[in-house]
Amino acid sequence: MTDPSGRSLSISFEFFPPATPNGAMRLWRSVERLAPLAPSFVSVTYGAGGTTRDRTRNAIKAILERARLQVAGHLTCVGATREETLEEADGYRKLGARRVVALRGDPPKGADRFEPHPDGFRNAAELVTGLRAAGHDRISVAAYPERHPDSADLAEDLDNLKRKLDAGADSALTQFFFDNDLFLRFRDAAAKAGITAPIHPGILPIENFGKMRRFAAGCGATIPDWLVTAYGNADEQGMTETLSRAICAEQCDGLLAEGVEHIHFYTLNNPDLPYDVCRAIGVEPQPLGAAAAGGA
Ligand code: FAD
Repeated sequence: MTDPSGRSLSISFEFFPPATPNGAMRLWRSVERLAPLAPSFVSVTYGAGGTTRDRTRNAIKAILERARLQVAGHLTCVGATREETLEEADGYRKLGARRVVALRGDPPKGADRFEPHPDGFRNAAELVTGLRAAGHDRISVAAYPERHPDSADLAEDLDNLKRKLDAGADSALTQFFFDNDLFLRFRDAAAKAGITAPIHPGILPIENFGKMRRFAAGCGATIPDWLVTAYGNADEQGMTETLSRAICAEQCDGLLAEGVEHIHFYTLNNPDLPYDVCRAIGVEPQPLGAAAAGGA
């Protein structure tokens, strides 16, 4: 699709698998609200330590059965043998999910470093290799504009990203960030490192500033001082929702102006803000089913 200025633009939405009947209703409301925007795919996360394995599979199944959308299943290496991990990916494929988001996963709560399962994949690059050998050919991996906390520096992080792409992934989705310059510098550095696959920015519309701060602390994303001030002021005036819409739309618009062609939204199963932001940057609702014609 193109936006009103003729720029190419595609979008994707990330959901998490629900744990309760109310959560399932919320997921479904999110899918129904966002499906008309014809995302090229939606993705479903995989809980730390594989704790949501069944829930992820069920959510993928429900989305595929009830909405004509392409689905990507997230998969981590945590707490499972290579065989078990590949079986899970095979399960996604049998359900009809065409893409896998291949991840290492985080250490369990309380542990300070990731310990692979003795018979498991040791990192995302190994997982990508295993997936490719098992015939999966649409694989996304994670990228970190502010580097992954386990990497000593950006160069090490870029080496790792290149390993994942060289192993057979076709694109990367980034951790969220609020300063577009961080992403643009990262994209330039990736190009210099010989990375040619598309790196799609992951954007987190701020539904709840406090919650976002906790996520950011967990993954090492910087929160600019101006954002803290803006939310402090907006909170006093009951204007945080308006601020979130404006900030996120402006961030996306800035990325599109820099040639970004795909934006991945972290929805946290809250559809209204991503919907409004997409509309603000020129994404038009389409007849249902338009997305299915595209590819994941
Ligand atoms: P990797 O790419 O394997 O890298 C992790 C670290 O290890 C890097 O610092 C890397 O440099 C280092 N490393 C890797 N291989 C080597 C090597 N051979 N030698 C030395 N160092 C090495 N987590 C979930 O649990 N579930 C999800 O659904 C989920 N979805 C995500 C989606 C996106 C878009 C993103 C950005 C993250 C997601 N995460 C998810 C979080 C992710 O699991 C964590 O960030 C995790 O800590 C790293 O995963 P990775 O795939 O980036 O790991």
